[in-house]
Amino acid sequence: MSARSRVIVLVIALALGPLILPEFHITLLNYIGLYALVTLGLVLLTGVGGLTSFGQAAFVGVGAYTTAYLTTAEGLPGFVAWVGVSPWLTLPAAVLLTVVVAAMLGLITLRLSGHYLPLGTIAWGMSLYFLFGNLSFLGGHTGLTGIPSLNLFGMDLKDGRHFYYLIWVLVLGALWLSQNLLDSREGRAIRALKGGTVMAEAMGVDTARSKMVVFLVAAGYAALSGWLYAHLQRFVNPTPFGLHIGIEYLFMAVVGGAGNVWGALVGAGLITVLKQWLQDLLPRIFGASGNFEIIFFGLLMIFVLHRARDGLWPVVRRLFPAQAAAAGVVAAAPLPIREKPVAGTVLLDVRDAVKKFGGLTANNQMSLSVKAGEILALIGPNGAGKSTLFNLVTGVEPLTSGEVHFLGGRVDGKASREIARLGMSRTFQHVRLLATMSVLENVAIGAHLRGRQGVFAAAFHLERAEEERLLAEAARQVELVGLTEHLMDPVGSLALGQQRTVEIARALAADPSLLLLDEPAAGLRYLEKAALADLLRKLRDNGLGILLVEHDMDFVMGLADSVVVMEFGEKIAEGLPEEVQGNPDVIEAYLGGVD
Ligand code: ADP
Ligand code: MG
Repeated sequence: MSARSRVIVLVIALALGPLILPEFHITLLNYIGLYALVTLGLVLLTGVGGLTSFGQAAFVGVGAYTTAYLTTAEGLPGFVAWVGVSPWLTLPAAVLLTVVVAAMLGLITLRLSGHYLPLGTIAWGMSLYFLFGNLSFLGGHTGLTGIPSLNLFGMDLKDGRHFYYLIWVLVLGALWLSQNLLDSREGRAIRALKGGTVMAEAMGVDTARSKMVVFLVAAGYAALSGWLYAHLQRFVNPTPFGLHIGIEYLFMAVVGGAGNVWGALVGAGLITVLKQWLQDLLPRIFGASGNFEIIFFGLLMIFVLHRARDGLWPVVRRLFPAQAAAAGVVAAAPLPIREKPVAGTVLLDVRDAVKKFGGLTANNQMSLSVKAGEILALIGPNGAGKSTLFNLVTGVEPLTSGEVHFLGGRVDGKASREIARLGMSRTFQHVRLLATMSVLENVAIGAHLRGRQGVFAAAFHLERAEEERLLAEAARQVELVGLTEHLMDPVGSLALGQQRTVEIARALAADPSLLLLDEPAAGLRYLEKAALADLLRKLRDNGLGILLVEHDMDFVMGLADSVVVMEFGEKIAEGLPEEVQGNPDVIEAYLGGVD
């Protein structure tokens, strides 16, 4: 069965549900739909973007309380009161207010790294919960009652069977939008967050923006769920918006499969049904009342984390194998290319660069320059400071002193992605790829700056023409480096040497004027090295400037136009390959102690 026909079967099954199922199951499915919306946001935020949030239930609360208050409060000033006339007007209000609250919290917390972000989400999750309970105009801990039911096309949605259709149309719509978003340039930028900010920024992704986008989308879904909940339940109090529910949502995302939008349905469905069942069963077994299911869930979570890291979605999918999607690159008009400097123009000019890490001077008074149409090799023993120089040039690390000029302008002090935009692109010594993404998609991240379509266009698939061009460009680069047979393979399944080559294709997809390669030949076999050397020569002859860090002397000597040798952070020699090769200092640095 193809993926499309599976979706059709699901939709038909959902549509028939209320006609055959008893009331109790409809109610359960309604709640599963509401939870799935929140979980879907968490799948995007946590599973895809790698940002853990325990505070999602609080956003559900903001959405629910917004509509509860606006539709029930008396004597609101006129400019607000009109919103409360119809729940359909409070929907945008609820989503907007939640997104504004999320934006403020996001500005503070998203910059936190490591464990601080989840801790931050716990803090706001608790604060908002207590706020709901302590504000008298929100009814304190008793909450607000008398929330009107929804009315659609003259039909009163008081009945759960009618409400069911509204919920599930919205859930399926949200799944569709989310899947579209992930399958786009913006989506790749969000997925790139998991590869680390350094990589994503080097490809021109504004990672702070991408984090905020996914954070606000998740908050928006939570608000929608809260709004629906308020009008389904017709009363609200703080209980369902507490931290423990926030943990439950996260749990649904992890169990379902935090990396795939369908995991949200699996997780929300499984946990809701299981909880219902255990709440009946366990007290009877233990002969006492209590929330025993929490213990069970804790154990389940540990089991999932040990045995099914990616949640249950991949397991579910294996039960219903779909035909592999056809390799999806169509011929498309090539992207516009950058106007390149003529051969011989100085591209990069590093002047007296110094970098100190505490007491260690990793780069001391380093100067070098690279011209268009030239391969400059930077060689030296391990720890000489070569990668550090790369990081100074590409804006990853600030200089202690000195200057970096690129295409005539100073770039030290600029952010990585601004330097990337000017036409500098790089690979990493320790590969930074997204292992589960295909070779094609990894390379397409490199073309990020060559597209401009945003989140809305992506969510509604209005950017297909640009997307096809971006993917076609990525496929072209994959072909150039000779990996077309692996185009659709997950990059993690390739040998390490091939992964380095994928990094070169990704860097080339940016259409750079200057290419920086950090040990690209490491892990390649003899013939692969020869092919790489041929490719680099061809690129050089087309006018690209290449700064090549390499350990393998033989590889460099047949290839480079000139060579700079580093040792202990300093330049010890520079010149034509054959000159440098005979330099006694260089021989000493490379062979010192061996002979
Ligand atoms: P190479 O790439 O030539 O092998 P590196 O530039 O990676 O050398 O490292 C040069 C020196 O700087 C090494 O001694 C390394 O331990 C040190 N170094 C590199 N990065 C950092 C860092 N972020 N913090 C502290 N020391 C560092
Ligand atoms: Mg290095």
